[in-house]
This record gives sequence, C-alpha cells and structure tokens, in this order.
Amino acid sequence: MRDEFDAVIVGSGPNGLTAAAVLARAGRRVLVLEAAGTIGGGTRTDEALGTGIRRDVCSAVHPTGFASPAFAELELADHGLRWLVPDVSLGHVGAGEVVAIHRENADTAIELGSDAHRWESIVGYADDPHALAAQVLEMPDLPRHPVAMSRFAAAAVLPVDTLTRAFGGHRAAMAFAGIAAHAERPLSAPGSSAAGMLLGGLTVSGWPIAEGGSRAITDALAAIVVDHGGTIEMDCPVTELGQLPTDCDLFFDTSPEMILRLFGDRLPRRYARALRRFEYGGGACKVDFVLSEPIPWAVRPDVLARTATFHLADDVAQIRRTERDVAAGRVPERPWVLGGEPTRIDPTRAPEGTHLAWTYCHVPAGCEVDVSASIIAELERRAPGFSDTVVDSMVTTAADMQRHNANYVGGDINCGTSSLRQLVARPVLSPNPQVTGIPGVYLCSSATAPGGGVHGMSGYRAARAALRSRPGPR
Ligand SMILES: Cc1cc2nc3c(=O)[nH]c(=O)nc-3n(C[C@H](O)[C@H](O)[C@H](O)COP(=O)(O)OP(=O)(O)OC[C@H]3O[C@@H](n4cnc5c(N)ncnc54)[C@H](O)[C@@H]3O)c2cc1C
Repeated sequence: MRDEFDAVIVGSGPNGLTAAAVLARAGRRVLVLEAAGTIGGGTRTDEALGTGIRRDVCSAVHPTGFASPAFAELELADHGLRWLVPDVSLGHVGAGEVVAIHRENADTAIELGSDAHRWESIVGYADDPHALAAQVLEMPDLPRHPVAMSRFAAAAVLPVDTLTRAFGGHRAAMAFAGIAAHAERPLSAPGSSAAGMLLGGLTVSGWPIAEGGSRAITDALAAIVVDHGGTIEMDCPVTELGQLPTDCDLFFDTSPEMILRLFGDRLPRRYARALRRFEYGGGACKVDFVLSEPIPWAVRPDVLARTATFHLADDVAQIRRTERDVAAGRVPERPWVLGGEPTRIDPTRAPEGTHLAWTYCHVPAGCEVDVSASIIAELERRAPGFSDTVVDSMVTTAADMQRHNANYVGGDINCGTSSLRQLVARPVLSPNPQVTGIPGVYLCSSATAPGGGVHGMSGYRAARAALRSRPGPR
C-alpha cells in the first residue's frame, strides 16, 4: 500500500510538515509518519492539566516563523494561522529593573539611553531586519544583500562577551546576552552571538505568538498536506528501513543518529563521518504554571503585560554563570530563566479567570533534575507573591524531553548545538545540507541548516532539492 507514494516523510515537526506541504502542492503523493500520538513535534499545543487552558508543549514564540520565507510562500494565513504580534517583543526583568525591547526602535532607544545608537547599529543591523533575517534563514544560499549579510556574519561569529563589551551600559548588555543565550552556548564561545543577532534583529519585526497556540502552525501545514491529497499517520515510529517503501523519496525530520542507524554503511563515508561528529547541546527543563491571576511583577507590570516573552537575569554575569555551568555538566544554582505569559496577549487560550505562564532554563544534557524550585525563586524575586497565584504546575525535565521526542537528544531542544562549526556545517558544509549522499534520501530536521527554531526552512530546502532532482510526479 505504501508503494503508492512519491515521498514519505518521517516525523511531523514543522520541518517535516513543511517538506510534506511543499511536495504535496507540487503534485507529489506524500505520506507523513509520526511516532507520537499527535502531530507537530516541537509545535504542539495541549490542554494544561485538564484546566481548559491551551498550553504550548514546546515552542511558544515565533520570530523565525514570522520571518520564514517558507511559511510566507505556503500562505499559512489562508489555512487559519493568525499571528498576534505584541508591541513589546521582550521584557528583560533584571534586579529591580525592566528593559523592554520594543518593535519601535525609538521606544527601545529610550530604554537603552546612551547605548541606543550602538544597539541599533549592531543588533538592529539593517533597514529591514525582517528581509535580512529571511536571508539568514535561507543559508547557505548566496545572499541577495551581501554587504548587509557580511556585517551580520562579522558580528555573529563573535563571542557574546565581546559584543556585550561594546555596550557602555549594563541594560543593553544584559538584554543582548539574554537573547543570544537562547542558543545555550558559553558566552565566551566564538559564534555565541549568532542567535542574538538573528533574534535581536527580529525584535523589530516582532516576536509573535500564534492565536490559539503554536499548534495553529501545525494545523495550517497539515491542512495544506491533506488538501493536496497527502496522508498523515500517527503512532508510527519508524525504527527500520523495512517499514518504508523503496521506490520513493524519503525525508527524515529526525536526528542524525536516526540516519546513521538506518543507513549505516550505505552512507558516503564523508557524510557518515560528519554525522558521527555531530554535537548536541545541553538540555532544558520546562515548567508550566496554571495561575489564578497574571504574574504580579513588582516593576513595570504595565510594560510586561504587553509582551509574550520575558527573560529573568540580574545581569550578564548570571547568564554567563548559567551557560558555563551547563557546559560543564552542572545544574545552575541560580539559572537565568526564559518565559512568557501567552494568555496576556491571547485571551482565547484560557477560560476567564485563569492564566498560564511557561518557563524553562538550561540544564546539562540528559538531566533528570526538576528545577522548578529555582525557577519559582527567580520569579518570586521579581514578582513577590507569585507562588500564591500558582494553581498547578507541570515539569518536563531534559530527560523527559527526549522521551517525548527522539529529536531532542539529551533534551537539546534544537537537535544540535550551535557551535561555530555547526553554524557553518550543519551537519555538513554543503550548498545542500539536507542531501545525504544517498539519492532520494534527505535529512530535513533542525539538525540541518539553518538550525533550530520553528521556521520550516530545513524541510522547505529538502523538498526543493527533491523537486529539482526529480521534476514532476512519478
Ligand atoms: C521546550 C521548547 C521550547 C522551544 N521554544 C521555541 C520557541 O519559542 N520558538 C521557536 O522557534 N522554537 C522553539 N523551540 C525549538 C523548536 O520547537 C524546534 O527547533 C523545532 O520544532 C524543530 O522542528 P523539526 O521539525 O526539525 O523537529 P521537531 O519539531 O522536533 O519534530 C520532529 C518530529 O519527528 C518525530 N520523529 C522523530 N523520530 C521519529 C521516528 N523515528 N519515526 C517517526 N517520527 C519520528 C518526532 O516525534 C517529532 O514529532 C522550542 C523547543 C522546545 C523543546
């Protein structure tokens, strides 16, 4: 029965579904096989703890999805996706102060004072950051604006510690360090500024959430697949090649380990070596809170009510210590924390009188430790009385992450670290990093360029490569 298909996609994360949608629209007969009982991978929304509140299981905020050329081409809005774009992209909550990074550069300038000009020239790196970010997501294609791209790359390869020294004041430095540290790299590491440059630039176009939850992205992609005759099957973990047809293209929205396990000696030697050398990063421990009222921020609650994303760190040093500890395999004593209160921006997600906050912090790979006490302590420091608002909570340790999704090796939410080497060669240095060297077999997960985040670009590139190499349906 499976021989009826032109393409089989293993895994239904945003990359797998984007590949499936592009192929289905091009007339290919596609089958998506998903191991889990729900589709979406890192882009799922469930109902938190039976409360009727919609909880994003993994990804929550979507600057890269908003800027994604693949999502734009697929016109996800026509399939029900609605972005809600707060005017405050990010609130960095320090010790007794808040730095708000706005979509409007003029408003951010007021926050950053004497560093405003430097922030705009380094982080707000172009007249049109949205267009430049789209190019970064299209890497390794040749840039359309080489001068702007060269400026971007020159800063991106630097350690965060170097770029933060360029700021005279600590407010700009800690805001930048928090954005860059999404990549979970030591701040002294070359290339650790890359995420700061990409996501920092995108604060201008917006850090949106999807109305109703991140699942709306999955639903829109799946609708395109199904509308074009594709088939999606759940509870279908692929563990051996015998489960797949032989005479069709195969796309793996999986970890590189999966490719090595399935194809082993059939892979070209150079490619297999690259996959064996592929490095995963540290893990994340996520804690979701059902709240009786919004977080009672002590400082600037009005501003924090206007964003879907907050970072908690007293200063650059707290971020530096966290990332250094994680890299050394230690659970940070006082981690810096990423979080958001999506129900502030999207009231459709929660019944009246209930709220949800998600948080996570970086921990060593494979860590089984529940860090909720540390996260609550960081929240209490900045929002006294927070604990009294907590109705229920749910912890997902780094080890749980991998149990739920095989791509999150050791709890690495990006399926591969963003070391300087893997910024350039992910997983191989190639104009077509999704091509495995076995004809018709593609690796299309975030283990390939441009890397982690919900943007579908790896799937898009894999599908385009397949359409180029085998034009027209079989
Ligand atoms: C806690 C957390 C928070 C995050 N926050 C954000 C955020 O706010 N914004 C953002 O842009 N990104 C965020 N991310 C990262 C983002 O979710 C991922 O980068 C993105 O989902 C990667 O997409 P993907 O399609 O490559 O893989 P995934 O989304 O991981 O999907 C892979 C799919 O393949 C399936 N699969 C794997 N192996 C097999 C197999 N052998 N057989 C069948 N199916 C298989 C898995 O079950 C899964 O459904 C977050 C991730 C996590 C975990």
